[in-house]
Amino acid sequence: MIEDKNQQRTQLSDLGEFGLIDHLTKNFEIKHKSTVKGIGDDAAVLGFKNKNIVITTDLLVEGVHFDLSYMPLKHLGYKSVIVNLSDVYAMNAEATQITVSIAVSNRFPLEALEDLYVGIETAAKIYNIDVVGGDTTSSTTGLLISVTAIGEVKSNNEVYRDGAKPNDLLVVTGDLGAAYMGLQVLEREKEVYKVNPNSQPDLSPYSYIIERQLKPEARKDIIKLLKDLEVKPSSMIDISDGLSSEIIHLCKQSKVGCDVYEEKIPLDPQVISTCEEFNIDSTTVALNGGEDYELLFTMSQDDYSKIKANPNLTVIGYMKVAQVGIHLVTRADTKIPIKAQGWKNFNV
Ligand SMILES: [Mg+2]
Repeated sequence: MIEDKNQQRTQLSDLGEFGLIDHLTKNFEIKHKSTVKGIGDDAAVLGFKNKNIVITTDLLVEGVHFDLSYMPLKHLGYKSVIVNLSDVYAMNAEATQITVSIAVSNRFPLEALEDLYVGIETAAKIYNIDVVGGDTTSSTTGLLISVTAIGEVKSNNEVYRDGAKPNDLLVVTGDLGAAYMGLQVLEREKEVYKVNPNSQPDLSPYSYIIERQLKPEARKDIIKLLKDLEVKPSSMIDISDGLSSEIIHLCKQSKVGCDVYEEKIPLDPQVISTCEEFNIDSTTVALNGGEDYELLFTMSQDDYSKIKANPNLTVIGYMKVAQVGIHLVTRADTKIPIKAQGWKNFNV
């Protein structure tokens, strides 16, 4: 699990900034017509016709957002792209381009950055996006990665956070809490490794939750699915900080309330068994865990027949008038107000 990343070490100073950029970006291909000019000039040129453009950016900082002792650089590159694409899809848009900027200290040799860029390249291939620019600079402490993603959406097809109406269904994709429990397992193994570097943990019972933490996917497929089903969400957000804080965003911005049913929250069996092992409540994990990168959206009840029985989509509640408030309806049928307790990196 904890890799000795680099046998070979090529000093970054041997290449220089432009040599480094050329080296790291030489495999990137252009796939979209909207990419008029990619890497290689002062700026990229993008041409979009009759489309609205969405832009989103994210900054990942070593020690705050990731820990390289269990996060291989390849996975980190992949994940840094995914977290941005997830925000593009949350607008009901198609992701088309990204830029990638890194600040890196001299403890990273070229081979480490190559791993990072293999991850970026893999994500770009799988999600069909062009890498059109970026910046590379030095840092005195650790690694910083900033990715900006650009997407396109037909005018009026974009979906915001503020369109939910009372009586709308609240729907979530996939399952929740796995990335957080994967992190708990990785943190535990890191402590074990510190005490006994020769330990060979059997992580196979945790394969799904660890993959959800180290190699999350963004729900590009859902944007297509909704289009095929002819369902346009009334509001949508991606779940990066935990279900409860995203529900609160939708409710506050749409000026509505909500009832969420505990028994409806989708959990993978591995999440349930690992929660039992760690003695953590699985509902708490689903509500507050974060980093699931699933989509949470609201839609009219009139369209319910279109999504009924779809294994990707789970109705977990109903939107209410604002005065009712935002509640979890527990299995015991009591109502508990939902409060945001998502990731708070500033409190770490
Ligand atoms: Mg988001």
